[in-house]
Amino acid sequence: MSRRGAHGRCVQERRLRRLCVYWQKRLRLADWEVFLSVERSAGMLGMKDAPAGQYTAGEMSTLPSKRQMWIRLLHPSDWPKDASERQDMERTIVHELLHVYFIAVRPQDRRAVCAVDAEEQAIHAISCALVEESRKGLRRAS
Ligand SMILES: [Zn+2]
Repeated sequence: MSRRGAHGRCVQERRLRRLCVYWQKRLRLADWEVFLSVERSAGMLGMKDAPAGQYTAGEMSTLPSKRQMWIRLLHPSDWPKDASERQDMERTIVHELLHVYFIAVRPQDRRAVCAVDAEEQAIHAISCALVEESRKGLRRAS
């Protein structure tokens, strides 16, 4: 259970869930059960050992045997003011969903830092392109 934050939080979480369902369909992951939550930085598991000043936009974990996935998105209050990019939670959802496809090809050796970096770069590029195209399509349709 996540903490209740600013006014409109529930509305925002509903909107994010709708986006998640939309992208699950588009990425052919509709048969996955996705548990989406918005967390303060202290609630992000990847932040436990992170150096000061580092942040993570989102993170995910899976239980492939049950086709279940947990996506945690960083609460907007904790998005760093000096970050080089604006927070884009839709893009982060797409990014985390795409990880599902890459887990299977991830090297077992966790020291393979280069492979992890390459995976992150590939997913970042694909998620940026998909969300950009999707928004262009929405503008054309309206
Ligand atoms: Zn990632």
